[in-house]
Amino acid sequence: MNNKVYKVFNDQVQAELYSAYMYLAMSLYLEDQNFKGMAHWMRLQYEEEREHAFRLAKFMQERGVKPELLQIDAPPAEFGTPLEVFKKALEHEKYVTSRIHAMYEVAMEEKDYAAMTHLHWFIDEQVEEEDQTRDIVDRLAMVGDNMNGLFVVDGQLGARK
Ligand code: MG
Repeated sequence: MNNKVYKVFNDQVQAELYSAYMYLAMSLYLEDQNFKGMAHWMRLQYEEEREHAFRLAKFMQERGVKPELLQIDAPPAEFGTPLEVFKKALEHEKYVTSRIHAMYEVAMEEKDYAAMTHLHWFIDEQVEEEDQTRDIVDRLAMVGDNMNGLFVVDGQLGARK
């Protein structure tokens, strides 16, 4: 793994941990608003992002380089209505997708075939992340500020395994 590839992988460990931190903040925020199902969904998302960070760091170690853990910024504490929360999550996932694609370009330019293969999993994962978050944004947009509708969606998200 050369320096350019090292840099993008190392920075992405930090970015995935920031995602985890942001989803934890969203989970706590939604719990505070009594949307317990949405809070549960966000907590699972938080755990997934930690796994993503670990997966990248472990791959770096397997390639014989030492990940350097960087500082993680504090996420916001307020996110607005449930629709606004999930819209922010979707925007964030689109941003992560653009980062993963940029990483892939670096790996390709540097002819780092192992890094390219490792990133395939992340490219597929981002399609899923965006799809599931967009689906929730659509459902929340449909119910608007109807409280019954919001609690139906809350119950659905509470069933996430
Ligand atoms: Mg991720």
